[in-house]
Amino acid sequence: MTQVAEEKVWQALSRVIEPDFKKDLVTLKMIENLKIEDGKVSFTIVLTTPACPLKDEMKNACNEALRSVPGVTSTEIAFTARTTSGTFSGKAPITGVRNVLAVSSGKGGVGKSTTSVNLAVGLQALGAKVGILDADVYGPNIPMMLGIKTQPKQVENRFIPPSSNGIACMSMAFLVPPGTPLIWRGPMLHGVIQQFVRDVEWGELDYLIVDMPPGTGDAQLSLAQLVPLSGAVIVTTPQEVSLSDSRRGLAMFQKVNVPILGIIENMSMFVCPNCHHETPIFSQGGGEMAAKELKVPFLGRIPIDLSIREGGDQGVPIGIAQPQSPISKSYETIAGQIASAISILNAGAKPIQIANFG
Ligand code: ADP
Repeated sequence: MTQVAEEKVWQALSRVIEPDFKKDLVTLKMIENLKIEDGKVSFTIVLTTPACPLKDEMKNACNEALRSVPGVTSTEIAFTARTTSGTFSGKAPITGVRNVLAVSSGKGGVGKSTTSVNLAVGLQALGAKVGILDADVYGPNIPMMLGIKTQPKQVENRFIPPSSNGIACMSMAFLVPPGTPLIWRGPMLHGVIQQFVRDVEWGELDYLIVDMPPGTGDAQLSLAQLVPLSGAVIVTTPQEVSLSDSRRGLAMFQKVNVPILGIIENMSMFVCPNCHHETPIFSQGGGEMAAKELKVPFLGRIPIDLSIREGGDQGVPIGIAQPQSPISKSYETIAGQIASAISILNAGAKPIQIANFG
């Protein structure tokens, strides 16, 4: 039997390029626990996010490279992740939280909160630890969408957020009786957000998703300024007006130096459950067009679907109720792209071109 030379294994692995970082796995120090037993080569690939969507691609590339090494008869490739942290746009990080992602929209009713919840579920399905900060002061409904019925616990001066299916959530909804209209004055909002950012025990989180209030006014801007964000995604519907909405969103985050990771088009198409005919109720293509024009990535589209709405109303997101459904998989794909984009930003690379608006 040919003895496998460790040196040859390293050489082979140094030909495998990590698709996001465009460098090889050895240079990136992503290979650990390399063991060679007879013809079997085993090792662990250390990722920068557990939600990496490229695991299979990397595994196949490693297997391919090792095929040329004399004596290798089998491989065992495991994955682990040490999630990288961002620069938090220059602000103090939230204890235990590695990355903070804003989900925003130019106006209400486009499905921003629904998207926040389902992206959280998607990131979790890919292996990440996730929480949601419901900062939608005008309509805080994340606890309802997650099926959370308990209040946060208070220990000394810290809040312990309740969670559902492993997703922790802190919300404006916990602070006021249901149905009470919320009218926030600047300093009051400031105080509550500060408290949410600094006085909540999130535990260890790979990603904290912030469901922003809809719009791009002063309240939203000061929120974007207060929260140490790694990046933001914009949710839009496909109509033409989405372009001006998205442009305003982009300009707002630019003002506070938060990179836009991309645009998600929600309510893209209605597929009739009976005849499967597709109807573009809210027109089509607006999200993609906006992304193209603003030079930010288009992250994908989500159709109008009864099970998404029901999942929100019943407090069981579609990704939990039907994890294998095509819609859940679409959310997962978008979540993976966002995780990759954050990892790339964290590594100091700048693949995301940010358009220049005044
Ligand atoms: P926003 O946060 O932008 O105000 P919501 O997430 O609260 O919007 O969504 C508004 C309504 O639309 C909710 O009833 C939600 O269930 C529904 N909804 C959102 N996205 C979809 C979708 N893709 N398909 C069907 N219903 C959706």
